[in-house]
Formats: sequence, C-alpha cells, structure tokens
Amino acid sequence: MAAKMRKNVECQWIFRYFVTMVVVSRFLTSVFSLGRAQGMLVFPFILIKEKRFQQNASFMNHEKIHFQQAVELLVVGFYLLYLLEFVIRLLQCRSATRAYHGISLEREAYANDHNLGYLKERKRWAWLRYLVRSAI
Ligand SMILES: [Zn+2]
Repeated sequence: MAAKMRKNVECQWIFRYFVTMVVVSRFLTSVFSLGRAQGMLVFPFILIKEKRFQQNASFMNHEKIHFQQAVELLVVGFYLLYLLEFVIRLLQCRSATRAYHGISLEREAYANDHNLGYLKERKRWAWLRYLVRSAI
C-alpha cells in the first residue's frame, strides 16, 4: 500500500518557494470534488483521478494557476472566495455549470491554461481582472 501510494505521489516545485504534490487517486478526487472533477487543488496537493492527466500540460497548468491563486489568497481565502462567488453566481444564473464557469478564479485558469508560459509572465492577483468583468 505504501509503495503504491509513493508511486502515485510526485512532488513538483512551483515557483521558488512552493512545492505541490500531485496525488493520483480516483477516490480522493471524487470525494473532494463531489464526483464532478477529473482533478482539483486541495492545497498543497493537486489531486487527479488518473495518471494520464499528469501528461496533459494544459490540465496541469490549470491546477497550477489555482495553486498560485491559493497562495495569493492565503489558501483559506481562496476556498472562501471560490465558494462565495459560486453561490452568488448560482443565485444569479440558476445553473451550477454556468456558476462554476463564472467564478473569477476559474475564468483566469480556463483563459490561460493553454498558455504554458503563463505562470512565468502572470502578474500577482491577476484573477482580480476576471472578478471585475461580468461573467454572466
Ligand atoms: Zn479550475
């Protein structure tokens, strides 16, 4: 079990000061995402359902953008803002999918996850631009 777990955990340095661990676990990813995501950030871990997602550069870039947002918001603020914005947008549009895609943190990540150099050029608090612009 421990050997299997070690095989499914990989450390990756993000920026100079932070390290994230990628954990491959269908069970944990399903539990934390309520069965809705293929991967997600549970700071400081990036949980993914299957090892193959680790080879998808834009998928991993998306989660690393969330990692940087979480660092800026001192982790707790990231999850509070994420939940608060989801609830507000859900009340506005009455669609969980549209509310999710309207969250400023998600909008920054989706808008830039294909740009693999984005995290090197990204300005701090870049997600604020997406919060100001109306999503819905
Ligand atoms: Zn996301």
